[in-house]
Amino acid sequence: MKVIESLDEWKELRPGLSGSLGLVPTMGFLHEGHLSLVRRARKENDHIVVWIFVNPKQFGQNEDLDQYPRDFARDLRLVREMDTDYVLAPTVEDVYPAGFQTHVTVEVISKPLEGTNRPSHFRGVATVVAKMLCLTQAHRAYFGQKDAQQSLVVKRMVDDLGMLTKIVVCPTVREPDGLALSSRNVRLAPAQRKAATVLFRALKEVEAAVAAGERDGETLRAQMRALLAEEPLAEVDYISIADPGTLEECTTVQDSALASLAVRFGDIRLIDNLILNT
Ligand code: AMP
Repeated sequence: MKVIESLDEWKELRPGLSGSLGLVPTMGFLHEGHLSLVRRARKENDHIVVWIFVNPKQFGQNEDLDQYPRDFARDLRLVREMDTDYVLAPTVEDVYPAGFQTHVTVEVISKPLEGTNRPSHFRGVATVVAKMLCLTQAHRAYFGQKDAQQSLVVKRMVDDLGMLTKIVVCPTVREPDGLALSSRNVRLAPAQRKAATVLFRALKEVEAAVAAGERDGETLRAQMRALLAEEPLAEVDYISIADPGTLEECTTVQDSALASLAVRFGDIRLIDNLILNT
């Protein structure tokens, strides 16, 4: 496994790679969710590159950039075990050198849900993903369903700008009690960790309601809101039952819907989602 911390070094190396290349973009502090993407990439490509970079442009001013957990040595150990060919871990100055002034804005799909409370988040995501796709010329790039809106934003960008990389979205990996794995989970105090299962419980409750015939969007949102209200440590950012393609809130659920939510436990903000099929 080759660890590359300079983009110039990667630019020299890339033209010499033949066969297919799979890219797994991450912000590090890897867990089984990330590793499921690496495993899938490993199966489907001749070479794989894991990108590890805590992207400052996708954090807002009052967000947890400084507290974001990092453990590069452990990340390297984990990806080495997965037979990774390349780790690309550039510095912030290398990705955004002085004079950097090009940003990618995916307009409509970036606005609701995460975009409401994190207005510059997807501009940061789209910009860094565009740069990664240009640099790597990857045949496939692997993203998690855990960040459902991110996958939609990236797919929209790739289609709109005619990028050739295929975007592969992989299922959410969860703890046995349903909590979606996230690098931020380590920051939860024991009581918050226990309370955090409320996200998945709320999603499963509306899934059961839809299976039992409920189709009214507002009723489903109210059900989630009521369950969250029973958890004193949870402060809701948003609750949504939306069209899984456009993210417009559903009045009535037709074929399927994306149930999603963002909840704060102190200064730790968790998100989760589930596709509801009628
Ligand atoms: P992050 O390091 O949090 O930016 O995540 C990097 C990639 O891993 C993103 O595509 C995420 O959607 C994906 N990911 C994060 N958590 C999970 C999870 N629990 N299951 C599957 N994929 C995940």
